[in-house]
Amino acid sequence: MTLRFVHEGRPGRVVFGIGAADRLADEIERAGLRRLLVVCTPPQADLARRLAEPVGEWVVGLHPHAEMHVPVATAEKAVERATELSADGCLAVGGGSAVGLAKAVAKETGLPIVAVPTTYAGSEMTSVWGLTDRGGKTTGRDARVLPALVIYDPALTVTLPVAVAVTSGFNALAHAAEALYAPDASPITSLIARESVRALVAALPRVAADPHDVDSRAEALYGAWLAGSVLGSTTMSLHHKLCHVLGGTFDLGHAEVHTAVLPHVLAANLPAAAPARTALQEALGVEDPAAHLFDTARRLGADMALERLGMPMDGVDVVVERVLAAPYANPVPVTGVLLRHLLGNALTGAVPSPPPDRRSDAQTP
Ligand code: NAD
Repeated sequence: MTLRFVHEGRPGRVVFGIGAADRLADEIERAGLRRLLVVCTPPQADLARRLAEPVGEWVVGLHPHAEMHVPVATAEKAVERATELSADGCLAVGGGSAVGLAKAVAKETGLPIVAVPTTYAGSEMTSVWGLTDRGGKTTGRDARVLPALVIYDPALTVTLPVAVAVTSGFNALAHAAEALYAPDASPITSLIARESVRALVAALPRVAADPHDVDSRAEALYGAWLAGSVLGSTTMSLHHKLCHVLGGTFDLGHAEVHTAVLPHVLAANLPAAAPARTALQEALGVEDPAAHLFDTARRLGADMALERLGMPMDGVDVVVERVLAAPYANPVPVTGVLLRHLLGNALTGAVPSPPPDRRSDAQTP
């Protein structure tokens, strides 16, 4: 195969390690930030206060109002607060919702973001922002929303309940898996993605078996960092499009939907994406990555039926229509037949199977 690629490194400083959050004040001093607005979800306000305390007077306010998918009104209030306080930066403590709110502030004000992630969503490594209103979710890329500094402290993830850790881990796996067949994959993103899959799938069963084992939490967070970085440097395909439409149409949980859908998309795409299939086979040490991920998620307690996550049984048509309306690069052509097959299986939690046309291809001598 002739090598041909474009790779663009993303700026940003990453500090990783158990206890890394203790370095927050030093890192903020180094970054020259002196008036930080802290954003987080309401349940993480105590954690955010505790982390902000040693930063002292360089924190000018706490705004614990982050919500999933960043409603426009929530974003506007955070921008107002940052402006009132003359903030010179935004410190996001939490998962994709907290980072998403900091991104909404950065998008309007240009303020730099410091992120202390506590889930595996990976938003802190991307320049992708998202906002929702009644018309649905709008996303875009803007270099200003890529965090300038990310502090990963696995000790902060020990409180992440196993059920959330598993689905959040599958959200990260989805970034890495789709990066392996991305139209703009490069040798570097593929190496990172493969290592991400290895680390996440090794760590998640250990996290589930012993949620307080900080070394397993560290390996999962390491895999999530790698997944976030390839999410930020490649273009995602059908899986992300499908999850985006499902989440936006039926208001379903972000990470849960990723978990239930990923094995089905991989069963459809991997037969047409040989290098990605080989990378996943090697990273997982199995012949059939889609079946293995399905079994792993189910064994770790994830609900694999979209129906039980809130998708109505008659919801397939609207999803098919919305996915087909905006074509995406994908290893296999995205057709109504393919989507109905995938969604039919994912809706009821059936095991992944190749789409009908592939099965008949295989039967043709
Ligand atoms: P989240 O941030 O909403 O967190 C889920 C829940 O877990 C929240 O209630 C939160 O308070 C809690 N939580 C977080 N960390 C915890 C911890 N360590 N201990 C206990 N509880 C904890 O969910 P998420 O899955 O991290 O992020 C989803 C959001 O991120 C979605 O809106 C999604 O669209 C967005 N996202 C964006 C990108 C991007 O590149 N822009 C990438 C991935 C996800």
